[in-house]
Amino acid sequence: MQTSSHLRTGTYPLLIDGQERSSSAGQHFDVDNPSTGRVLAQVTQADANDVDAAVRAAQTAFDTHWRHTSARQRSRLLRKLADALERRTEQLAWLETWNVGRPITLTRATLGTMLDGIDYVAGVAQGIGGQTHNVADTHIVNFTLREPYGVVGLILPWNYPLTLTISKLMPVLAAGNTAVIKASEITPLSTVELGAAILEAGFPPGVINIVHGPGATVGQALVEHPLVERISFTGGTATGKAIYRSAAERIKRVTLELGGKSPLIVFDDADLDLAAAIALQDVTKNSGQICVACTRLLVHERIAEAFTERLRQAYQHIRVGLPEDPQTQMGPLVSRAQLERVQRYIDIGRDEQANPEVLQDLSGRAELRNGYFVAPTLFTQGRSGMQVAQDEIFGPVQVVIPFRDEADAVRIANDSRHGLAGVVCTRDGARAMRMCHALQIGNIAINDPIKVSVDAPFGGFKESGLGKERGIDAILENTQVKNVRFSM
Ligand code: NAD
Repeated sequence: MQTSSHLRTGTYPLLIDGQERSSSAGQHFDVDNPSTGRVLAQVTQADANDVDAAVRAAQTAFDTHWRHTSARQRSRLLRKLADALERRTEQLAWLETWNVGRPITLTRATLGTMLDGIDYVAGVAQGIGGQTHNVADTHIVNFTLREPYGVVGLILPWNYPLTLTISKLMPVLAAGNTAVIKASEITPLSTVELGAAILEAGFPPGVINIVHGPGATVGQALVEHPLVERISFTGGTATGKAIYRSAAERIKRVTLELGGKSPLIVFDDADLDLAAAIALQDVTKNSGQICVACTRLLVHERIAEAFTERLRQAYQHIRVGLPEDPQTQMGPLVSRAQLERVQRYIDIGRDEQANPEVLQDLSGRAELRNGYFVAPTLFTQGRSGMQVAQDEIFGPVQVVIPFRDEADAVRIANDSRHGLAGVVCTRDGARAMRMCHALQIGNIAINDPIKVSVDAPFGGFKESGLGKERGIDAILENTQVKNVRFSM
């Protein structure tokens, strides 16, 4: 049930060296409820001294304790964290619903998947090890050790705060590293409660630290800190490039999970109801604020009008509303800035003559007036070169682009600086296989929505990122390989 007891009464703290703390500078900032536009809570704002204290605590925890623990001990603590989070599921679900604006039924469902991810990492991490290599000399053994890096800085976006933090954090810890997390300054509340769960699970002080505040100060201080060996970042491509440049100064290792502009490619033999359902769920589930969302709808010219009409009809049934209502399928955007960005792109598409169609009229809905709601919009006359077909808009906005044949579909799909995800709908298995090879994309689904799965590697091609998260690859990326030539 929704109760304000899920919110803390005071200012939300930092977590440094096993203690919830305020900042040495005494600053805090407001976070909003996007469905009302009102202030939801105050959060402690870290400064450079707090970031330094968090990184030093993580380094001490690494040197004195965490690097010496066995994989089994670490996995046990991960499972305790999963239990502590499970006990807080309802509170965490409400915090994300109020802070992100995602409907309550969806925040609850997302948290369940997140707990599965912890179990997966806790299980497989115990099997990670080095290799021995054949050498001709019987007196020599050549083998590799997989070692942790040390302190890893984790920087997160606002769209799925807790699940993205957990999917980064678990492999970092399982591989023997310690962590300093910087949550998004727009949606930090559930990450503060992750801190409470970390304390309850009994992690040694300093193994996981959490700081809050703007990217330009707190995020940058974390990236530039000399004791941080590795950065794991999820966010926009422009920020990712800035972090990559800064990390290069000290050859820091980076994982970058960045933006997308994913194609949904619908061939003329496809199940059109299925294709329309995939298109629809991608831009309504988190109000289109999903990195993998298929926002470029590449449709064979013979069926373009039929598909568009099906989509128009389907949109009529989407329930846009307040996120606390269990009937709501689509809530507001996360912030006023995001609302203005989406509205700006709708204007750009109008100027480009992409023909924006508003698919639900929200203007008479008094209960939505103060929140950051935007009506789902479809550009029905798109072309690949248009700005609305190239830029990540991050809202419930899609563009229909007709194609002539398979080669044309491949050309348009690959005509993008992004390469995060893509979906192909066809009943022709051989064609589906050819498309898998031809697309310059990191995550492909055939006749199914893109679903991020705990045991499969996830990451983008081209400007959508560098490295993989999830699956065994994510654990391996958090280790460095040391080769040993051992003579007896
Ligand atoms: P953003 O890049 O604005 O911010 C992300 C984080 O980086 C925030 O915590 C921010 O404070 C911090 N930051 C900003 N400037 C920084 C700097 N100079 N140094 C260090 N940190 C800095 O992104 P956002 O608006 O929060 O999130 C939306 C973006 O995230 C979209 O582009 C979306 O596609 C992307 N995203 C990608 C994935 C993926 O897996 N590929 C998943 C979710 C979101």
